[in-house]
Amino acid sequence: MELNVLILPGDGIGTEVTREAVRVLNHVAARFSHTVNLTEGLLGGIAIHKTGGPFPAETEKLALEADATLMGAVGLPEFDNWPPEKRPERGLLGIRKCLGVYANLRPVRAYQPLIESSPLKNHLVEGTDMIIVRELTGGIYYGTPRGIAGTGDEERGTNTMTYTRAEIARVSRMAFELARARRKKVTSVDKSNVLETSQLWRRVITEVAAGYPDVELDHLLVDNCAMQLILNPKRFDVVVMENMFGDILSDEGAVLAGSIGMLPSASIGARKPNGAWVGLYEPVHGSAPDIAGQNKANPFGAIGSVAAMLEYSFGLMEEAAAVNRAVEAVLASGNVTADLKGKATTEQVGQAVCAAI
Ligand code: NAD
Repeated sequence: MELNVLILPGDGIGTEVTREAVRVLNHVAARFSHTVNLTEGLLGGIAIHKTGGPFPAETEKLALEADATLMGAVGLPEFDNWPPEKRPERGLLGIRKCLGVYANLRPVRAYQPLIESSPLKNHLVEGTDMIIVRELTGGIYYGTPRGIAGTGDEERGTNTMTYTRAEIARVSRMAFELARARRKKVTSVDKSNVLETSQLWRRVITEVAAGYPDVELDHLLVDNCAMQLILNPKRFDVVVMENMFGDILSDEGAVLAGSIGMLPSASIGARKPNGAWVGLYEPVHGSAPDIAGQNKANPFGAIGSVAAMLEYSFGLMEEAAAVNRAVEAVLASGNVTADLKGKATTEQVGQAVCAAI
């Protein structure tokens, strides 16, 4: 198979972890006799330096041409006081919009060698294996009217949470499709005891569920879900929710994995005629200016993002599993970076994963 992949290393440790992710991608592809065609583009702070904006037109063109995009991270401290529309992070919104990705998938797994790194008791976190599916393009972050108006005691901030049936149905279908390939259970999270958007959400996902009789659906209120993620994370398989609930709860999920450097993510859009998803793959963490340039960033989140890419955008399940198994083997060997209490460099971890594949 030919894999045409756009690489956007971005800023800070983004470039370091992406280098190792690409090493692993090239290695697993060669091992399974696939051809990788890589192009590299600019995004974030480096794009501002070189082109004047965080999401150059050339990057947009490359993203639309590629089968999938692998990103590092964006953000540089020198831009911290710039207005939001000019900052590196705006590049993220640009690429998500251009690719039309509407669901963010975060696999959360408790790896046995990292159980001690989780703040939860071992017996609670052991065996955790879920995917959090966050709706990415709707809800209160985008709804109008919005803004701050008035003065004095009457000064008022307004945001609007709004969802259409179509927006809820497409992300619901994605959750059911994912569950079908896993333990066949979807948990839908809402606040239907208070919010009308949630009442519609619950109604629509229940209708969608009728098309997936082999998958079990249950509903949790978001406040209860926040508790259950800590009390009984093993109960979850695929968990789907609107944008803001997902923003908050996926970070809670992140704690279960031990280090933010471990977490991959996939942002998924339309399904192509060959069944593969349009996808943007990136580790969950940011550009970590505090450790940038020191070759000590944990690359597992970026490497796990390669596994997600192989699975969702190329349908290469065996290859994805080989990467995940190699990550587990390296974790078990203790050849890991400082955030996991190891002594390995970013580069050594990438090389070890290739060797394990
Ligand atoms: P961050 O994720 O960059 O770092 C938070 C902490 O976790 C830091 O102490 C960092 O050293 C550590 N850390 C993060 N990733 C690590 C890894 N792979 N290995 C070891 N340690 C790791 O978050 P932040 O400090 O809040 O943000 C820094 C910059 O990144 C900001 O400009 C922010 O806007 C940007 N950011 C970008 C993204 C993205 O590109 N998707 C996401 C979050 C933050």
